[in-house]
Amino acid sequence: MKISEWKNLKDGEPCKHPGCLSHITHPCEECGRIGGINVMLIIHKLKCELDIANAVISDTKSKLNSILSSATEVDDLGSTLYDINEVVLDL
Ligand SMILES: [Zn+2]
Repeated sequence: MKISEWKNLKDGEPCKHPGCLSHITHPCEECGRIGGINVMLIIHKLKCELDIANAVISDTKSKLNSILSSATEVDDLGSTLYDINEVVLDL
């Protein structure tokens, strides 16, 4: 079976391998899915979401460091807290 063929299979739908859905401890030899689910696709999506979350965290740390490093006077406290609040609200 070509990759282009099994990519269109729905979760739980067997490929042409007779034991496709019985493969729950290892990938099906034919389509590479586990229990009829494309686990690699799920892992790929989770990794993408993790990459996005890490980028947001990195950006937030950068913004907060910038705000904190620019606050040099006690009088800046109010505006510093306001700026921090703005960054947090963006999350
Ligand atoms: Zn299969």
